[in-house]
Amino acid sequence: MARYTDAACRLCRREGAKLFLKGERCYSEKCSFARRHKAPGMHDNSRKKISEYGTQLREKQKTKRFYGVLEKQFRNTFEKAERMQGKTGENLLKLLELRFDNVIYRMGFAQSRAQARQLVSHGHFTINGKKANIPSMILKVGDEIAVKDTSKKSAAFENLSSRPVPAWLSVDAEALKGKISVAPERADVDLADLKETLIVELYSK
Ligand code: SF4
Repeated sequence: MARYTDAACRLCRREGAKLFLKGERCYSEKCSFARRHKAPGMHDNSRKKISEYGTQLREKQKTKRFYGVLEKQFRNTFEKAERMQGKTGENLLKLLELRFDNVIYRMGFAQSRAQARQLVSHGHFTINGKKANIPSMILKVGDEIAVKDTSKKSAAFENLSSRPVPAWLSVDAEALKGKISVAPERADVDLADLKETLIVELYSK
């Protein structure tokens, strides 16, 4: 499947935000975004005026890259968000948070969303006791996620992430399982300065 192959840290600089694409490195002093904010390339574009469309586009790109979702899936998720009650932008973010790969990352069973996606694809988890291997699945409140018995000894689960688990999830790290306790709220999205209304405006053109 097509994935971004460019150096992950360049994407953070391009979007002007920490996208947390490289696991524990993102939380350490080695994070290159902390040292160098400028967009990749030779020229300083900081004084260049960005159009309204450009601003909306960048916000969408930033969000897509943060969650590691390609355009078609992102658009499908947006259309699903539009059909839900409430604010489309907030619905979009809640659906992205509820993606299977994101839940695995947020539970601390993977160091990055990219690794979570790979672990899910390789069939290391069950949902409510049944095998599940589709990273884009949207989970629901009450779903129980567990590392498969045959995968519990895998090196991937030897050292779980020490990141705090968000309040909408509960995790039993020893048993390598967790549950979606309540639906995620807008405030649970940890992408700084995200303006989801710009994405709604972009897709409404
Ligand atoms: Fe790289 Fe920092 Fe971005 Fe992580 S948050 S991908 S370390 S620039």
